[in-house]
Amino acid sequence: MDSGHATGLSTLLGDASRVLTQPQAVKQLSRDFYWYSPVLRRQLDGKVGDLVVQPVNAAEIQAILRYCNAHEIPVTARGAGTGNYGQAVPLHGGVVLDLARMDQVEQILPDGVAVCEPGVRLGTLENEARKLGWELRCYPSTIMKASVGGFLGGGSGGVGSVAHGNLRDFQTVRALEVVTMEAEPRVVLHEGEAVHDILHAWGTNGIVTRIWLTLTPAVEWSQCAIAFDQFEAAFDFSERIAGDPRWTKRLVTPFEWPIPSFFTPVKECVSHGKALIFFLIAETQCAELETVARKQGGEITYSGRYLGLRTRPLLSDYTWNHTTLWAMRCNEAYTYLQCAFDPVTVRDQMRQLKERFGNEFLFHMEFWKSGDGRMIPGAIPVVYYRTEERLNDMISFCREVGVFVANPHVNNVEGGGRYRADNVQLLAKQRYDPKGLLNPGKMITFKAGELAR
Ligand code: FAD
Repeated sequence: MDSGHATGLSTLLGDASRVLTQPQAVKQLSRDFYWYSPVLRRQLDGKVGDLVVQPVNAAEIQAILRYCNAHEIPVTARGAGTGNYGQAVPLHGGVVLDLARMDQVEQILPDGVAVCEPGVRLGTLENEARKLGWELRCYPSTIMKASVGGFLGGGSGGVGSVAHGNLRDFQTVRALEVVTMEAEPRVVLHEGEAVHDILHAWGTNGIVTRIWLTLTPAVEWSQCAIAFDQFEAAFDFSERIAGDPRWTKRLVTPFEWPIPSFFTPVKECVSHGKALIFFLIAETQCAELETVARKQGGEITYSGRYLGLRTRPLLSDYTWNHTTLWAMRCNEAYTYLQCAFDPVTVRDQMRQLKERFGNEFLFHMEFWKSGDGRMIPGAIPVVYYRTEERLNDMISFCREVGVFVANPHVNNVEGGGRYRADNVQLLAKQRYDPKGLLNPGKMITFKAGELAR
């Protein structure tokens, strides 16, 4: 990219301090957590943008995109860079659009809808919402760092999904505004079903500049850890609590041994050799949950009030994709998959996977409610990486036995498995980014100048 563009963009913003060109800063802001995957590590190491631009409002984004469109410069949006698929890693250099300065919670409406800018950290929004009696419906375990815009662009669900589904469900994203990458960029409002044009499109078809996010009434929570001798018993108990609407829960996460042994900072919550479940459960139901668990042979290894995101220990720090992080800290040969088991045949599916892969495939389940109300035994299994071929063998075998896999070892929207069959994300890209300049290379079904069918 021509070095004169740094000057061009600085002039545009009237503030050179928000155009970063120092190689170390640009490198840092071109990375995310793709290195969780040994496959992506090989593909993406060394990929960097040419410079970073830090807008503070939608009008500036329009000006930046107008400039980049005219000069055919790629633009990759960045929230906090905690994505796992190399979503925010620019494949073809250009501008990294760092949205961290657009961090205003504009309003929390009386009906529990937060209106905010994309760079707001989810943890900030959760704290602000709780002051007013609301909380997030679902959030990734990276809540402290991750941004709202990045969650919409690249995330799917997390803590809370057991009760409220994923980000795409139950109109959790009420509306959003995007800036288009046209010769004359527009600000376009997407409401209702139309939010799906943009959700989980990895910033390939518009830059989200304002979000209307549905919250849920806040609950006083307790954290609780329960150990069982066998994983099967832990799974049965988790499934029972997750699936029974009488229990008010935010997290139901069973782990197979030896996964709990990776959680070194919370050794006190772990019972050697046993499977473990981490719960966030309504404070008013915690004692009852513990009584029921004991009757089923469970051992309560930890129980305490949840006092917000600063609570220590914070059990959610060991769940969702944080589990993989703890495994990798113990042995860097571990990596992960993202799966959804069949609620009816899950036990048979787990048995077949165990028979085939033994301890190369360790169960870490995360329950979530699907859009049609079913309780899905989701999973982020910790898997031992030997070769890419063996990893692909695991993915193929999962699919053979009916386990859905969103492959986290590919670097495109389609391969990640959360692409929509109705093609709405691709259609939006055709409309909003006809030259293919937004995060190029990440939506592989897109061809410049070709209309989607
Ligand atoms: P980024 O990584 O910066 O961006 C993600 C994608 O969105 C990129 O493609 C980027 O280009 C695009 N984007 C960013 N901002 C915008 C914008 N304003 N407009 C358009 N596109 C934009 N994810 C989950 O869903 N659930 C989990 O529980 C979870 N747990 C995780 C645990 C760990 C330890 C790690 C490392 C990751 C985890 N993730 C999880 C992935 C990630 O943390 C979340 O998806 C997070 O919400 C991403 O937010 P971010 O601000 O870091 O986004």
